[in-house]
Amino acid sequence: MLIVMQTHASGDDIAEVCRRIESLGLKAHPMPGATRTAIGITGNIDAIDARSFEALSGVRELVRVTKPYKLASREMHADDTVVPVAGTRIGPGTFTVIAGPCSVENESMAMEIAEFLRERGVRLFRGGVFKPRTSPYAFQGLEDEGLRILERVRERTGVGIVTEVMEPDQVERVEQASDILQIGTRNMQNFPLLKRVGKAQRPVLLKRGMSATLEEWLMAAEYVLAGGNKQVILCERGIRTFADHTRNTLDLSVIPPAKQFSHLPILVDPSHGTGKRAYVHPMALAGLAAGADGLIVEIHPKPETAMSDGAQTLTLEQFDVLLTDLRRLAEALGRTVV
Ligand code: PEP
Ligand code: MN
Repeated sequence: MLIVMQTHASGDDIAEVCRRIESLGLKAHPMPGATRTAIGITGNIDAIDARSFEALSGVRELVRVTKPYKLASREMHADDTVVPVAGTRIGPGTFTVIAGPCSVENESMAMEIAEFLRERGVRLFRGGVFKPRTSPYAFQGLEDEGLRILERVRERTGVGIVTEVMEPDQVERVEQASDILQIGTRNMQNFPLLKRVGKAQRPVLLKRGMSATLEEWLMAAEYVLAGGNKQVILCERGIRTFADHTRNTLDLSVIPPAKQFSHLPILVDPSHGTGKRAYVHPMALAGLAAGADGLIVEIHPKPETAMSDGAQTLTLEQFDVLLTDLRRLAEALGRTVV
């Protein structure tokens, strides 16, 4: 349910509506707009409760939100969400590039890549230190030592840090060392983790579960939003299909409906979305053309020696070529690569 206030509604009117919502054991989400404030209600509200708001001072109309996700929906929040982060932004109008190794392997490689990105005006560095690996025998990441490296990379180069967090207990430490908390595909429905990052002070990059529908994905975003963290960025990273010519099927067709039904920004990940280096460049361009607000891509000075995901990782030279093409395509589309 959404309560739309009149243009001339006073601060007291808005406060009173919020108080009445909370007195019913529900949660009020005031959303100031350009001309009027709307107040979202979450929790169970029946028709009788809703009608009691109609007579309150300053109330213009009550709008039923039909989707099961509320705070993530366009019905409740018409304007696009823009996430300001690390001196840049993620949202419509721009195309934000996030790049870096799958895993942080040591300080010198992380520093080299971050320096390379900074020289090219790329503001956000990705690098996993807690790695969700299919095999327990595979490299699990540098963990807390990796967080220290990320802190030094940020301090020395000024790039913003995007890194995955896998457990609620890690959130506080990861928050200190990063600018965006990544939730991986395998944890999209890890509800305790979603609740915990809902209380975090950093934007959350929520990757789509590899078998999740758009609705399930937006319900996962709803957990984070309902916790109070309004800075959620969606990321399409490929889903499981019968196709075996790629590691996953990058579902670019999810971008227009995600934009239609939600106000949240959305990125593409052509690295995990294809699993093969040769397909990353075309699918990155296709993501921009399909309306994504940016991309997250894996790069490495020597992908053949990478400790994880080397086969889908671009060399620094290949990334340079991609960046040039992204800038050319963005310009043709009236967008700016940041
Ligand atoms: C990653 O970004 O390295 C990663 C593990 O991604 P995903 O969760 O999409 O597999
Ligand atoms: Mn990876």
